[in-house]
Amino acid sequence: MANKLRNKGKLYDAASYPSLEGEIFSRKLFEELRRLQKLLNHGYDLKVKWLPKVKHMEENGKYRVCGEIIGKTIYVYDEDEEEAVKTLRHEIIEHLLYTYERNYVAFINCLIKLFNEMQRRKREDLVEKIVGIL
Ligand SMILES: [Zn+2]
Repeated sequence: MANKLRNKGKLYDAASYPSLEGEIFSRKLFEELRRLQKLLNHGYDLKVKWLPKVKHMEENGKYRVCGEIIGKTIYVYDEDEEEAVKTLRHEIIEHLLYTYERNYVAFINCLIKLFNEMQRRKREDLVEKIVGIL
């Protein structure tokens, strides 16, 4: 999520997001996305949509969101094309970092699962010992 104040924004999923009209094709953005995909070797499945006429507000109405990723689409709302390119860079780097974060979450979940299994076995042993002395 990119915005001028870099505040945290609401995350939407593709299904719940309102339909956005006013897409303008930008060769600059299209080519920048291709360049970044190759450079970072990441996000080959991502698309970019430039919606400069959409005034995108946070729910509290305070901040203008410049860009966000919904599903596999990067939405860029900047009216200025150069700013839109910067927002695109922000979003794709954020997406790359998010991929690493997801790996970290998967790792932690594996540890939790392992720990729970160890605890379960200890509990079973303890229960059997208690049953044995009753
Ligand atoms: Zn962001």
